[in-house]
Amino acid sequence: MKFSAIIGQNATKERFLRSARDGRVSHAQLIAGPEGSGTLPLALAYAQYLLCSNKQENDSCGTCSSCIRVSKLEHPDLHLSFPIVKEGTKVEKSDDRIAEFRKVFLEQPYMPLRHFLSELEEESKRPLIGTEEAGAIIHKLNYKSYEGEYKILVMWMAEFMNEVAANNLLKIIEEPPDNTVFLLIAESTESILPTILSRTQLIKVPALTDDEMMWVLTEGHSIPEEEAYNITMLAEGNYWAGLSMVLDLEDSGFSMQTFRAWMLLCHKKDIAGLISWSDEMASLTREQHKNFVRYALHIFRQCIIGAYTNNELLRAREDERDFISKFSQFVHGYNIVALMEEFNKSHYYLERNANPKLVFINLSFKVTALMFPKK
Ligand SMILES: [Zn+2]
Repeated sequence: MKFSAIIGQNATKERFLRSARDGRVSHAQLIAGPEGSGTLPLALAYAQYLLCSNKQENDSCGTCSSCIRVSKLEHPDLHLSFPIVKEGTKVEKSDDRIAEFRKVFLEQPYMPLRHFLSELEEESKRPLIGTEEAGAIIHKLNYKSYEGEYKILVMWMAEFMNEVAANNLLKIIEEPPDNTVFLLIAESTESILPTILSRTQLIKVPALTDDEMMWVLTEGHSIPEEEAYNITMLAEGNYWAGLSMVLDLEDSGFSMQTFRAWMLLCHKKDIAGLISWSDEMASLTREQHKNFVRYALHIFRQCIIGAYTNNELLRAREDERDFISKFSQFVHGYNIVALMEEFNKSHYYLERNANPKLVFINLSFKVTALMFPKK
């Protein structure tokens, strides 16, 4: 992947390029950024640049044999490490899942870990980067560099390293073999061991800006401007979330209409109506369920923001603003925390394959009980 294929993130790209041009590539870097910000594609574009045999000033060439092999994740000096669900001795380290990883990543470079796991139908299991993987990394990196200037290890979702694995890797991260570069990637630094943190240079990657998101939606996906704007408002800099809404546009999955109809049923305490509404919701896909719950959370947040800022900071489109200004009398300081908690919990359950009908019925009753006009 070339730097030019990455959405936005110019400051980080420039920082990587400068380090390579100045010959000051730090041997252990922790690239930390939220879901959908592009940390993994950024790390791989950096790796491709470092390994490219015909570097241009601002990007890798994209055509030398090294670039081509990096872009297929098949370069012998590029090692990939990521969380896996262990299966006895059959699957115990990343290399045992490398074929699947290549396939899923090449289709969806901005994927979150749960997408990778769900493609393997392992989303309900616990992934990790364990001791076997740490052993494999040490073994691989102690080999002589196969052909190039650098040996690069890209570790995706480093927060899934267990403590033993992290401790086993401390020494090699601190004093790696010559020309070895560790690129650790994480969504947050909070669950990274302090001993690892202190041995790495931290590169913080921000969420995408609204402009970057608008650009990729209109130019990359040919979404009409108005719709692109709506998605940008909802995605909050997460390209993965934006992408799933793009896919959702094709069928009329979640929408304000659905939400508005639902809230009306809750308000009227129409039990029969709520049950048949939940039935209908259950027939949508899991991604649509999650999108819908995220949408509801977005509306709740907007109700609160609207109330505090006199509707000035609303991130909403025209027809929503109208709805939010009326609906916000029911969402306020007395119930917002409980509402957000219930919807976050439901999102969590849906992600773990809970029965969607039960989730939505339960949520309907919770909302019915929690929804009352501001005192
Ligand atoms: Zn090249």
